Amino acid sequence: MERVNVPAAPPQTVRRVHCPSATGVKVVSWDVDGTLFSYAELTRALIRLAPRKLRAGGWAEIRKDIRDVWKFHWLVERQRRQPGSRVIESELEPFSSASDKEREALDLALRQIGPPENVVQLLETLAAAGIRQVALSDFECRYKLRALGLERYFDMSYSCRSLGFWKPSPVPLQHIQRIYGIRPHEHLHIGDRLDADQEACARNGCRSARPTLCMSSLRAIIRT
Ligand SMILES: [Mg+2]
Repeated sequence: MERVNVPAAPPQTVRRVHCPSATGVKVVSWDVDGTLFSYAELTRALIRLAPRKLRAGGWAEIRKDIRDVWKFHWLVERQRRQPGSRVIESELEPFSSASDKEREALDLALRQIGPPENVVQLLETLAAAGIRQVALSDFECRYKLRALGLERYFDMSYSCRSLGFWKPSPVPLQHIQRIYGIRPHEHLHIGDRLDADQEACARNGCRSARPTLCMSSLRAIIRT
């Protein structure tokens, strides 16, 4: 796919979501897809970019790419729902080409949409308070952080696929806690999916929140 420099869009509007208070937090892990960016904004950006893809490869190639990407994510969701939520690479490897093309499209689209304003505000505040922040996504996500202009906020990024377990397995959260030498109650995970992020937190015992934190909870975090 043709790579072009696209000026970053202004931050998206703030979404209001309730969240619980969280004190004593030393490390915050962030889910990426649907948390650091909006799926609705992403979809609009991909539609805007479609004519460029059409000129490069035509409808037949677009249809094949969409079908392969859809099958890849369908397999991931099927693995996620199995007991233990183990990653089965042998099922995913045939779709490596589709994953590469998806990555190119997402990289370009994310550069257009940027992160929501409240996310940037929270990242800034947590960083100023000295709280370590990491990304925890299903897939390799460093390029997404870079495309969103958020890379500087994160110590590390972790991929559930690389760790061998999809959320809602608690294993990825336990891995972060081992790396940083913290206990579950000192770890806050922010993620958008109830059946993946929030369920993984419930199984692990760490704190959890939805992508948009209310300011009272934010103050509670940084006071400690
Ligand atoms: Mg997500």
